[in-house]
Amino acid sequence: MDPWNKVLAIIKEQVSPVNYRAWFAKTKAIQINGTITVATTSSFAKQTILVKYLPIVEAAVFEVYRKKIDLEFKVESSLSNLSGKVQEEETVLKMQPSAPIAQTYPSLNPKYTLDNFVVGLSNNMAFAAAQAVAANPGITYNPLFIYGGTGVGKTHLMHGIGNTLIKKDPSLKILYCSSERFMNDLIESIRNKRTNEFRHKYRSLDLLLIDDIQFISGRDSTQEEFFHTFNELQVKNSQIILTSDRPPNDIQKLESRLQSRFQGGLMVDIQMPDFDTRVAILRAKCQERGEVIEESCLTLIAENMPTNARELEGKLIQIIQTAKLGGKNIDQEYINHTIGVQAQPKQAIDQKKVISGVTSYFNLKASDINGPKRNRGFVVPRQIIMFFLYQECKIPFEKIGELLGGRDHTTIMHGVDKIRQAITRDREIQKIIIEIKQKISP
Ligand code: ADP
Ligand code: MG
Repeated sequence: MDPWNKVLAIIKEQVSPVNYRAWFAKTKAIQINGTITVATTSSFAKQTILVKYLPIVEAAVFEVYRKKIDLEFKVESSLSNLSGKVQEEETVLKMQPSAPIAQTYPSLNPKYTLDNFVVGLSNNMAFAAAQAVAANPGITYNPLFIYGGTGVGKTHLMHGIGNTLIKKDPSLKILYCSSERFMNDLIESIRNKRTNEFRHKYRSLDLLLIDDIQFISGRDSTQEEFFHTFNELQVKNSQIILTSDRPPNDIQKLESRLQSRFQGGLMVDIQMPDFDTRVAILRAKCQERGEVIEESCLTLIAENMPTNARELEGKLIQIIQTAKLGGKNIDQEYINHTIGVQAQPKQAIDQKKVISGVTSYFNLKASDINGPKRNRGFVVPRQIIMFFLYQECKIPFEKIGELLGGRDHTTIMHGVDKIRQAITRDREIQKIIIEIKQKISP
């Protein structure tokens, strides 16, 4: 297959069919001297790709060529109709020597590391698990099963673990692929009578990363093969990491023996980023690109975009690029203009909901919280309430003290601090905080 078609196949998995057809389906590309020139159908298509899809294209190119390659975009209006000129273009393209592809499979993307993964309330459990696996692969948590909605950083975290491990030991055999690729590879190997090769390839790994395992749903022979791959890897303590958009018991038509395998290691979820994490992600992405944007502008974007990291990053890039093209300064007015909405105050979590959410989570009465009882069963829930009232509702320490039966503000400060520290260390607390947060969020 023409390498560009491989790139397109990857892009196709990531953008909506309508957008794929509109912007990518008719693109062509030529690689010359380490630069890929992509011909687009119109200057609008070119702008759209640059502004909205550049990270996706870059990542796909990386997957296929397994190194960073400069991209250039040009307009080739003949591509938009199917005239003879396109034929010509295609012939020219075919005459180019095909790009070297070291391996049929995309491997780790060096852009995604544990170091540049922004940790916040929505993902700190998953991050802690990733660190644990990177420190002790194959032993502590096998498999690691990361699940969560789209664009929240599952793939990033998975590559982050791989990159950490390969840095420590470059001889490790690591393979990253989507579950669809695993399936296609299997089918192809059966067709070509090369199943032995297939098995050797997957079963000799030290680390197997399978992204979006939910697509294995309903594929019986793939599930069968994967089950054996899984067992063989697990027996020799090779680490397996899986991601999914949902937990194993929600994957339809998944063999129960696979379901129980997936549940047998550690399952962690990643939630949509909360406000603070969104700001931190935007800040990090600016730094990575060497862009300086005022903090107030970042908070404005984060307030108006209660969405996943991928969309945040996309919007940020769009803002940067359109400002550059139009020679504009990025300030609050410009951001309001680009986002298309006036800043709205972020919807705060209601303080009553915090108290009722926490008390019902622990099966306590409000009087237990407000009263003087000091054993751990009361103290921890009380501190969790302090934490949420301070962190999420932005209520000052003194006021929280009043709300909780007239406690001193230093007690509140201490309580908030206790939980903040526990979140980074104590898995149980992490889990509790995330579950309660989910329950009480507007
Ligand atoms: P998912 O696999 O969950 O759909 P990805 O891992 O592909 O999401 O993340 C989408 C984009 O957002 C990537 O560019 C990734 O680097 C970025 N991203 C997601 N979460 C974070 C995070 N916590 N810190 C930094 N970047 C993140
Ligand atoms: Mg992903």
